[in-house]
Amino acid sequence: MVASVLDGKSCSAAVESSLVPRINDCVSAGIIPHLAVVIVGDDPASHVYVGAKIRACKRLGIKSSHIELPESTSEAELRNIITELNHDTDVHGILVQSPLPQHMDEEALTDLIHPSKDVDGFHPVNLGRLVQSRNDCLIPCTPNGVMRLLEWAGIETNGKTALVIGRSRNVGMPQAILLASRGADATVTIGHSRTADLELQCQQADIVVAAVGRPNMVKKSWIKPGAVVVDVGINRVDDEKSERGYLLVGDVEKSANEVASWITPVPGGVGPMTVAMLMENTVAAAENILQ
Ligand code: NDP
Repeated sequence: MVASVLDGKSCSAAVESSLVPRINDCVSAGIIPHLAVVIVGDDPASHVYVGAKIRACKRLGIKSSHIELPESTSEAELRNIITELNHDTDVHGILVQSPLPQHMDEEALTDLIHPSKDVDGFHPVNLGRLVQSRNDCLIPCTPNGVMRLLEWAGIETNGKTALVIGRSRNVGMPQAILLASRGADATVTIGHSRTADLELQCQQADIVVAAVGRPNMVKKSWIKPGAVVVDVGINRVDDEKSERGYLLVGDVEKSANEVASWITPVPGGVGPMTVAMLMENTVAAAENILQ
């Protein structure tokens, strides 16, 4: 058996198309959705991600501001910029690209973003409302993108067992909440670096979402035959033969596609979904879903 591909590129294109009439309605009402992206330092991967976000804005007619700051920027300077963006009525979404330099308190800085402009969905108000299963919140883009991809492919989560590997606030934790929430109705286990016998947990799961950041950690032999595998991981692995000198690989061995029923490719799986859900959150922020 070879797994069907959970094609994030096609699904993200469908999400983007669905945003066009909403954006047109905003524009008709005199509001051009506007995303401000702040990046500090010169982490090459972060610049690639920000580039993809800005390009998506351009495709959709969402206004974007790209604020690039040097590594030496102080936390106080960044706080001032976020505060200004909070007060700027022309800006609907604010994204501070992670990771920030070591000398900054990333959590405190993202908490400073006004919840109604928190298009990453990391503010405690948004995460709290997510736990309450409320509609009036901005949901973290990557786990929301995974849910949308499963729904788009017609994959049933109701009554299934799901293992989420990773418990970060941006991916693993919200992913587990979304899978377990009413409507999705999966029974969820969260794995992390202290989990005893992760392999066994994995072998029992109908759905595996790997969000670890360790290349090929999840082996083919860990996957239950017919399971759905969502590989969130994006890892750069040196490869002299490739043009760029590196390859992008996921957290799951590629050969898992010989056992799974569905699997996301890396790249082209969860990555484009993250960008599409960011666009959706920006439009929702412009529509002012948070009162
Ligand atoms: P974090 O580093 O914040 O979290 C990683 C998680 O993996 C932690 O909970 C950690 O456990 C767990 N972990 C680490 N080692 C092991 C192990 N040996 N066994 C089991 N669990 C382990 O990463 P993120 O959540 O931010 O991202 C995870 C991956 O997803 C990365 O590769 C990242 O690049 C990618 N990513 C991809 C996106 C996309 O759009 N495709 C978007 C965001 C992230 P513990 O808590 O115990 O330390």
